[in-house]
Amino acid sequence: MKNLHEPVMVLEKNVMCDGPSNAPALGHPRIYLHIQTDNRIDCPYCGKVFVYANNALIAD
Ligand SMILES: [Zn+2]
Repeated sequence: MKNLHEPVMVLEKNVMCDGPSNAPALGHPRIYLHIQTDNRIDCPYCGKVFVYANNALIAD
């Protein structure tokens, strides 16, 4: 089974989810999530994981 829970790196703590792009069958109404202090949040609908990437992590 393809991994549907590959973390999505985001640069803002407010993220939108309407389902995994690679699994349209798991789509759901658009919701907004706010990443808390642990720097990650799971979508309660589809289980998609958003990880907050701060500047230190994305700097190359
Ligand atoms: Zn979702």
